[in-house]
Formats: sequence, structure tokens, C-alpha cells
Amino acid sequence: MIKRLLKAERTATVKAGNGCEGLKKYIGLEDMSNVNCSSVLRVIQDCGGLSRRQIADITGLSWGGMTKIVNKLFDHGYLVEEKSGASAGNGRIPGIIRINGEQHFVVGLDMNKTGLSACVTDLSGDIKKEYAAPNHFEDRKGLLGNVFHFLDMLIEDFGKDAVQAVGVAVQGEVDAEKGISVQFPGCADWRDVPMAALIRERYGMETYLEHDPDCMLLSELEHGDGDNQILFRMDQSVGMAVSLQGNILRGRGLLEVAHSIVVPGGKLCRCGLSGCLEAYVAPCIRKDGPDREAVQEMLQPLALTIHNMAGVFHADRVILTGDLIKYHEEFEEQLLSELRKLGEKEAENIIFADGTGLAVRGAALFAAEKVIEGIKV
Ligand SMILES: [Zn+2]
Repeated sequence: MIKRLLKAERTATVKAGNGCEGLKKYIGLEDMSNVNCSSVLRVIQDCGGLSRRQIADITGLSWGGMTKIVNKLFDHGYLVEEKSGASAGNGRIPGIIRINGEQHFVVGLDMNKTGLSACVTDLSGDIKKEYAAPNHFEDRKGLLGNVFHFLDMLIEDFGKDAVQAVGVAVQGEVDAEKGISVQFPGCADWRDVPMAALIRERYGMETYLEHDPDCMLLSELEHGDGDNQILFRMDQSVGMAVSLQGNILRGRGLLEVAHSIVVPGGKLCRCGLSGCLEAYVAPCIRKDGPDREAVQEMLQPLALTIHNMAGVFHADRVILTGDLIKYHEEFEEQLLSELRKLGEKEAENIIFADGTGLAVRGAALFAAEKVIEGIKV
């Protein structure tokens, strides 16, 4: 299974080229060994199982260097070896080296206005267990109480020592770099809450916060081709994520497409402006399903946004997901026809994706990447 080939190639270029040779002067041998451990783990994570020869070829490490790194990772329980059973011709059976599925777990948590979900995965992203709970809250205290109660349950199952990091996908405005949830929908006194630090303090585990569309896109990158991809998460509002050459574009306040004006002088938006995309998307879902009239009014503004953003980011894949997209069959053809009016290309590149579990899985992947990046053995 070749996962995220782009990333594997990027890693390979960095290692073989190699840049790291020059770095040796500035960082100690021990650090260098950790950098190499990260590279080896990353290519195995990307590609699934690899032979020693493949690992050496892709990373550009010498045979001796690779052997040392792989043995270190075996010793610390990061890797396991499977004998394939078939002889290579010289009597030796080449082993396939994989990420150890029994140790070094990460948690992905999705904090959503309506529910909490989580999964525990190994470093290759294989899910060990999934959790879900409703999320009723009135204020910051209530929301934090729900999150901790939920995480307590999960940590009790696996034990603190088994979990290396937590990735959290959060709705609303997020400062991923600082681990701060700036605003959370439906929680009035939620302002600049240092979620990453709070979880880190309570459980003693490294914690990373990410905007939920970024997590969804990371999850989608696992099984999608395309150099540049954009994702729209559509429910009561619109969240957007972009990946350029396999890298998620991140930054506080970037890609706030919900309040871009799509109909000058159009529908009044809750932000005070008129004609924002959100003003057209928000009324589309009622409790009992989609509002057909609102959906009709939303299609052209949405097509315009997709067309413009796909042009700006030179996207060859556009993923639509979220609660509204659950009903895509009711408006898919019309949306594609609106897009065709603007140009053939975008209509061909649209994917309607079931958003179930995407954010939580992406959050776990983010955490796994951080663990691999910061490995110290
Ligand atoms: Zn607005």
C-alpha cells in the first residue's frame, strides 16, 4: 500500500540530496541519528511495509547506517519484522519491516459542537479503538468537563504510558501554532482557551491542536492523488483547507472563506455583512434534512467559490464534505452544471466525501507525524 507517495518522495529527496550532510556540522551525532530515525519511520509509515533494501534506497542511508537505525527502532518497539516466507534465491528470506501495531499509540480527538469522537491508533494510522459521546454544554466549564470526562475514559482503557501524543481537531477559530482554541461555536464564554496546554497538563502527553478542515484534508490525502487539493467542510458554516504539494497550508485566520462575499448586496449574514457565502450555506440544513429552497439559492454562490478557490490554488482535486454533503445526491448534478458554466475543469475534479470520522482520523495522523518528527531514541 503506497500512502501519501508525494510525502515519501519529498522525504527521499531531502535525505538523498541531501542537505543533512551539511547539517552534521551543526547538530550532534545523536541528533543526526534521531533525524535518521524519523526519516526511516516516515518512509515506512508512508509506504506500509518495506524491505531493508528499499529503506536504504528510499532514504539514501548507507546499508550500515540503515541497519543501525532500524535496529535502534526495533529495540525501542517502533518497528516489527515479518518474514514473507519466500526465499530471495540466496537462501535468505527478506523480512518486511512495518510499524509496530502494539506499541506507541496516539489519540485523535474531534471536538465538535454536537459530539465528541476519538480514536486510538498506532503510528501507521491503524485504528485500535474508537469512541463517541454526545457533547451538550452550556459554557466553557461544561465543555471542558465533557472533553476531560471523555478523555479520562480512553486513557483508562489504554494507560498513560501507551499513548505518546494527542491530536485534537477543533471547530471554530484555532491558533494551531499556539495550541489555542480561539472561539468555539455555541460556547459564548469560550475565548482563547489553551486546549493543548490543558490536556498536556492533565495527562502529561504532548498535545497538538488543529482546525478541523485541516484534519479532514490530511485524512483525505491518504487516499487521493493530486498535487494541490482543497477541501470545503459544509454544515452551518463553511470551513476550508488547502494542501499544496502534500503540505497542509496553515496559519491563524487563513482561508476564512465563510465570509467572502459571493453575492454583492445579497442575503444578510450573521457577521453584519451582506452576501457572504455563509449567509447562503447556513439556512440549508434544517433539523429534518435539507431546505430545498435554500439549497437552490446556495448552488451558484458555492460554484463561484469553488471555481475561484480552485483557480487561486491551482487545485486538481476539490473535496466537499460535512453535514450538508450527506445530501449531495439531491443537488450534485445542479452544482456540477453551475460549475460547468464557469469552466469544464473544476466539475471534473470534485469529490463528494463522507465526512464521518475524517476529522478524528486526521487528528490522529497529525499526532503520529509529530511523534515521528520528534522521535528521540
Ligand atoms: Zn458574513
